[in-house]
Amino acid sequence: MKLEKLRNIGISAHIDSGKTTLSERILFYTGRIHKIEEVRGGGDGATMDHMELEKERGITITSAATSVEWKGHPINLIDTPGHVDFTVEVERSLRVLDGAVLVLCSVGGVQSQSITVDRQMKRYAIPRVAFINKMDRTGANPFRVVQQLREKLGAEAFLMQYPIGKEDYFKGVVDLIEMKAYLHGGEEGEIIVEAPVPEDILSEVEAARVNMLEALSMYSDEMMELLLSEEAVPKELIYKVTREAVLGGATPVYVGSAYKNKGVQPLLDAVIRYLPSPLDREIRGRDPSDEERKIDLRPDFARPFVGMAFKIVDDPFGQLTFMRVYQGQIKKGETYVNQRTGRSERFSRIVRMHSDKREEIDVANAGDIIAVMGIDSASGDTYATARDFCTLESMFIPEPVIKIA
Ligand code: GDP
Repeated sequence: MKLEKLRNIGISAHIDSGKTTLSERILFYTGRIHKIEEVRGGGDGATMDHMELEKERGITITSAATSVEWKGHPINLIDTPGHVDFTVEVERSLRVLDGAVLVLCSVGGVQSQSITVDRQMKRYAIPRVAFINKMDRTGANPFRVVQQLREKLGAEAFLMQYPIGKEDYFKGVVDLIEMKAYLHGGEEGEIIVEAPVPEDILSEVEAARVNMLEALSMYSDEMMELLLSEEAVPKELIYKVTREAVLGGATPVYVGSAYKNKGVQPLLDAVIRYLPSPLDREIRGRDPSDEERKIDLRPDFARPFVGMAFKIVDDPFGQLTFMRVYQGQIKKGETYVNQRTGRSERFSRIVRMHSDKREEIDVANAGDIIAVMGIDSASGDTYATARDFCTLESMFIPEPVIKIA
């Protein structure tokens, strides 16, 4: 696997904005689940056994990390708890992310927990894109939500798509880079039909495009000059600058309705296009015997292994330790040292979680997120090749540095 293709992402949202629904749709579109469960609200949930559905749905999406693939890019979806407090558990789940999707409701906009998760993302310098969900709801107003992102979160937020219709008439989006309309059709809304930009919204679409380019030009002198001299900006340049802008903290905004299966595929495209890979992030651990000495960890397979257990889950088959491999690699059957206890432990089974299925793997490389079965660990433990090599858990906030390639 090419490391630059890998995405470790979290989905963060104010409660009820549709994080669960979106996660489920992502599993569906990436082929991990084959049927969309109609749960809670929206559909005809009232006629179904709520508990049964909750249970079924719980199995598919509450995993601490789920691996999917979109257009040749492996994506690890990490469950980020939406806690209001900045707890150590939240801290750990944020530390293993390279990027995030901030989900907002098109009616509710920026809400209390949006502010909390925004603060947490900033603390860890996690690059992100935003998704304004529930475009089908009465009162949907994505423009107001973008305004709130700017005003309440101080985000450099701008639409990448112009919505076509809203509420019951939300039909699709205009991609402001390609200047093409993508209309959703099919029973599930899953078929996307390409069309010219509708005439009646052309002037608004053009204005939104200018707005997007102006926002992006803050991150590129080349683009700024083209705009000033009123020259056309090549598409390739827009793609490149958007990626740099995201790494620099900007928030491109996508719109859709997870429930109605609209806008999920373009959002996945944005995830693989703009959110960083493990190669774009720098992670520092520290020397266990010297508080002051920082150790730069690189996602290089040839270096000594360092990984962090970020979540422990009890499972009918034993304890599952979810781990991010920060450096080096782990191999099935080898032993590694728990830096806290000093004990060596054999990693006899390594698994990759796919929705409710698990795949046994022999090797996991730096950058990846996997689970080790049956080891005796606690959440936050660092594992490494040798004793007293490195620790990642700390009382201080680590310093993930964003670097622009
Ligand atoms: P979470 O709390 O953020 O995980 O939100 P859920 O995914 O559980 O969604 C909360 C409620 O909003 C549920 O009743 C969903 O069916 C509903 N919902 C999710 N997405 C949409 C959407 O795009 N449109 C509408 N109308 N309802 C949605």
